[in-house]
Amino acid sequence: MLIQRATLLGGGRADIRVGAQIDEVGQRLPAARGEDVLDAAGGTVVPGLYDHHVHLRSAASALGSLVLGPPAIATKDQLAQTLSQAVPGSDGWIRGIGYHESVAGDLDRAALDAMVPCVPVRVQHRSGALWIVNSAGLDLVGLPEHPDGRLRPTDRGWSEAIPRRERGLAELSRRLTAFGVTGVTDATPDLDADDMTELLMEHRCGEFRPRVRFLSPGKKILQDDRLDLDALTLWVGGHHTDGRPVAVHCVTAAQLVVTIAALRAAGSHPLDRIEHAAVVPEDNLADLADLGVTVVTQPNFVAERGDQYVADIPPAEHAQLWRLASLLKANVRVALSTDMPFGDPDPWAAMRAAVNRITPSGAILGANECVSAREALTMFLGWPEDPCRARGVAAGQPGDLCVLTEPPEALLADLDAAGVAATIIGGRVAYAAR
Ligand SMILES: [Zn+2]
Repeated sequence: MLIQRATLLGGGRADIRVGAQIDEVGQRLPAARGEDVLDAAGGTVVPGLYDHHVHLRSAASALGSLVLGPPAIATKDQLAQTLSQAVPGSDGWIRGIGYHESVAGDLDRAALDAMVPCVPVRVQHRSGALWIVNSAGLDLVGLPEHPDGRLRPTDRGWSEAIPRRERGLAELSRRLTAFGVTGVTDATPDLDADDMTELLMEHRCGEFRPRVRFLSPGKKILQDDRLDLDALTLWVGGHHTDGRPVAVHCVTAAQLVVTIAALRAAGSHPLDRIEHAAVVPEDNLADLADLGVTVVTQPNFVAERGDQYVADIPPAEHAQLWRLASLLKANVRVALSTDMPFGDPDPWAAMRAAVNRITPSGAILGANECVSAREALTMFLGWPEDPCRARGVAAGQPGDLCVLTEPPEALLADLDAAGVAATIIGGRVAYAAR
């Protein structure tokens, strides 16, 4: 197809001929016979957005779930009211996500029973690492005697007992392409080969349009009470020996320090990643730059959970939270992502958070970490396997593009998903605004 009258991010006007790859970028390119033509009318054309850390199945399920945490739900009364009015999904369950103990403490089966006595309910903690199930639900999954109904996703036997919902990857695909997203990396740690094959099939058959890539098997989640430097070093070394980079999930300073030590001991691979890097002590900025590791972080959590951090974390540590500008300044390789569904799936919201760092109550968290709109956008334009190297609009680049309604200056001032006019994947229109 041919995109006419595009404005490139650098300001120049061009026409773009695009198939599986970008074939040609030039002035006043004539349309070939039968070629589809899209008039960008002076709007900006950028490479398609790539979200470098998502969880696809959870995101599809989340579409039919209640959000049961802050800021939408902040008190026990709000939780009880929302749950008691909820309508069960096609699987017969009420499914809630995003729970945080600031709402009603450490939720358990008895507390849920008091709100919903008869319909099965399952509520996911916003960390993704815990489900709370009421008594009606525990009966259905064969655990009627369970002491508190607090279940880990990895506890065998219970989640398989829940019938699969209409999983909604087509709906998720529609929403992501409307954001201009043309590819995602699924960072779910326990995906098996069947899960991956199934997701790839859904991409190939057109059910899920954005390109899909996986971090498994070189992905590791750390827990503060089980940090083992020797074991982590061996694990990193094993993957590197097989020629594979690793991706280590670091949400605390302790996890980051151990990961840095393990990468130093085992040696680093140029495509190694650290996921989240939610807390980076000042001293570790130089280590991250030195190792050449790519940090894949989520500034959207500042906009979504910033007030919680301010309340829970000592003020002296606020400067270490969800860093961005200081990482770039230290020459750390950085890319952005949303961590959908644990974060808001809209990458434009994440970009705005990277630029203004405004919390839900209107405070600014980490004013020194604000980056420019152009930097924020560029950090969503990386290559799937090398997130911090940006793609461009030039011949030979992938045929994945995001066409916006506005010229660059207005686009960068707004950073708004409403400005997406069309999304092109492999030279085909995957989304067009009405
Ligand atoms: Zn994640």
